[in-house]
Amino acid sequence: MPDLSAMLERGPVVCAEGYLFECERRGYLQAGAFVPEVVLDHPDVVEELHREFVHAGSDVVEAFTYYGHRQKLRVVGKEDILEPLNRQALSVAAGVARQTGTLLAGNVCNTNVYEPGSPTVLEVRAAFEEQVAWAAEAGADMIIAETFSWLGEALLALEVIRAAGLPAVVTFAVHRDGTLRDVGRPEDACRQAEQAGASVVGLNCIRGPRTMLPLLERVRAAVSCEVAALPVPYRTTEAEPTMQALRDPARGGAQAFPTSLDPFTCTRGELGEFAAAALALGVRYLGVCCGAAPHHIRAVAEAAGKVPPASRYSPDMSRHSFLGTAPGIAPSYQDYAARL
Ligand SMILES: [Zn+2]
Repeated sequence: MPDLSAMLERGPVVCAEGYLFECERRGYLQAGAFVPEVVLDHPDVVEELHREFVHAGSDVVEAFTYYGHRQKLRVVGKEDILEPLNRQALSVAAGVARQTGTLLAGNVCNTNVYEPGSPTVLEVRAAFEEQVAWAAEAGADMIIAETFSWLGEALLALEVIRAAGLPAVVTFAVHRDGTLRDVGRPEDACRQAEQAGASVVGLNCIRGPRTMLPLLERVRAAVSCEVAALPVPYRTTEAEPTMQALRDPARGGAQAFPTSLDPFTCTRGELGEFAAAALALGVRYLGVCCGAAPHHIRAVAEAAGKVPPASRYSPDMSRHSFLGTAPGIAPSYQDYAARL
């Protein structure tokens, strides 16, 4: 069976995320609600996306249960589909993972009801317990606990995952002010998650490559375990450090999140450069979150020295009809290229 620690000993591990945004763009999931009903309505779409991400270099197939927890389904009036949704998501992901020899990851995430020291803590723990139990039954190799802005909530998830005997990847979402809601510094949260038994700790979502990288350096220095980095593929800046903060000058300064982020999308090259910079810091669990498409994942995988099946089709502009240099390209067309 694939094993996360063994894979990380051999080299960097790539994990594609971003299923919510990609299914939304393809027209199978509603922005706003952001509930992964697509796993029940169109499992073929989710299976195909898993396959595309593996083809592009993902070593992990993450079951699409992000926001598929009791609290979120209750908000949209669909608590009754909780168990079938989770079981189906795990079954679809397991099928692809087992066929491709990749890691099958269960997934739990921010519940958006957690308040420290309140009765919500018990409710949140129960939600993690049911989701982790379904993932364990489905044979998950690991659980990704992600997008937490509370350390306390992440530690609850981690405790449940460790009780199930599974390796945990715990990642935090760092919003505009650069802190988490309880502990403050993300590196302190990562250190505590490591001490509580996480196999990998780090950051995911919210921040683009440019504004995640400086935080990763601090996380890397604070922990001994492997570090995860899964930015969103958007051109965030010092002034607008998160995808929620981005404002589009072409639309009168309107907020771009979540469905008008297109003009801020990073190129594949920018994701490759990010991956190389993160690797240079010692970050070895790499991926892309909301907004990720297969070409971004391939760029990350190639920066990590991998040659996924999709690399067969990686660009080779020497073969281009005008811009190329390959034998057989007419010199008159190469000259014409200067006028394009
Ligand atoms: Zn995300």
